[in-house]
Amino acid sequence: MRTSHVSALALGSLVLGSFIVGSPSLHASEPDPALERAIVRVTPQIVGIRHQIHQNPELGNREVETARLVAEHLRLLGLEVETGVALTGVVGVLRGGKPGPVVAVRADMDALPVTEQTDLPFKSTRRTDYLGQEVGVAHACGHDIHTSVALGVASVLASMRDKLPGTVKFLFQPAEEGPPPGEKGGAKLMFEEGVLDTDPKPEAIFGLHSFPDLEVGQLGYQEGPAMAAVDHFLIEIHGKQSHGAYPHLSVDPVVIAAQAVMALQTIRSRNLPALEPSVVTVGIVRGGERFNIIPGSVHLEGTVRTFRPEIREQVERRMREILDGVTRAAGGSFTMEYRSNAPATINDPELARRVRPGMERAVGADKVIEVEPTMAGEDFAYFAERIPGFYFRLGVVAAGAESGGLHTPTFRASDDAIPVGIRAMASVVLEYLGGEGR
Ligand SMILES: [Zn+2]
Ligand SMILES: [Zn+2]
Repeated sequence: MRTSHVSALALGSLVLGSFIVGSPSLHASEPDPALERAIVRVTPQIVGIRHQIHQNPELGNREVETARLVAEHLRLLGLEVETGVALTGVVGVLRGGKPGPVVAVRADMDALPVTEQTDLPFKSTRRTDYLGQEVGVAHACGHDIHTSVALGVASVLASMRDKLPGTVKFLFQPAEEGPPPGEKGGAKLMFEEGVLDTDPKPEAIFGLHSFPDLEVGQLGYQEGPAMAAVDHFLIEIHGKQSHGAYPHLSVDPVVIAAQAVMALQTIRSRNLPALEPSVVTVGIVRGGERFNIIPGSVHLEGTVRTFRPEIREQVERRMREILDGVTRAAGGSFTMEYRSNAPATINDPELARRVRPGMERAVGADKVIEVEPTMAGEDFAYFAERIPGFYFRLGVVAAGAESGGLHTPTFRASDDAIPVGIRAMASVVLEYLGGEGR
């Protein structure tokens, strides 16, 4: 993700104002004063929860304290709560007093092995063990915001439960960034454990993500492709070792690897249509022990990003063909392990159009922005490929402030994004539950 530089934005009206309301009905086309009062009431508590989560970040599949805090909050609201879902996940069910559809709201809880370098008074100083190394831990992807916003949505909707036309199933998900090596986890495991199939069975799912490219008060979204499929490849190029002075006695895997890295870039430029989004990135090249020895093998590792399943298959096939050709031409060989992770996150276009009025009411039509898809990935995709899903972006950088990009030590989300996030997600849910087409 790129670092964002943000200009000033007048925010005074956002926290309290732009959701102008006037009817006791929860029908989406009519504003609701109860919602706004509830947001104002819960925001201080939710901001406090955000600080607590931010200051005590936990890595994927280790979200024990966070999950405890989440479960306690949901129980106090009177939701039906299930813990230990996909290891450390929490599911909370809020049944409205009126009949209506079942929808899911998903929030991710895990932090990253990043040492925070912000001036936030509640910044993380926590350290932990990650893959045998001591590292800092921080909410450098904003999942503290997502978790607290979803708790805020649960609070405000619970406060108007009697009028709520339907059921909301809150999914607090572990390990969005991927489980530790050798472990299962994340949205895939939650799905496999049946969260979309067990009663109450949601017919649509919503999620949001902090984005430093947007200012507090702005929402971004796409109709259709939103985030890319994320694959991970591990290649071994096998050659023949020799003295560095006698290359004719070797099959040099360094030269083969160099050719392979270059040739892999022709998939994007020469095998796929120019307008088809895709990325093949080699992120690791590792081989050799000494300057005057040609090594026996070289390790390449990297990622492929695509949107369409057929393109995903084509890229993997072309990688194998290219590696086969390049290594055989030099007298070497290769092995490749190709790990397909989350598929592309595709927003259901009809669902996006249906809930857009809710977003517009939450922040104002001019602050709801259709943005370009990104080649970053998101395991929300596992849910959205099963039932219609809508995943939108929440602006988190306050007026006059700056933030580093996602996953960087200087990523800095403002507390002011919390009431906006609660208002946006609650409005999206109410738009669906009370909107047309029920
Ligand atoms: Zn992330
Ligand atoms: Zn994230």
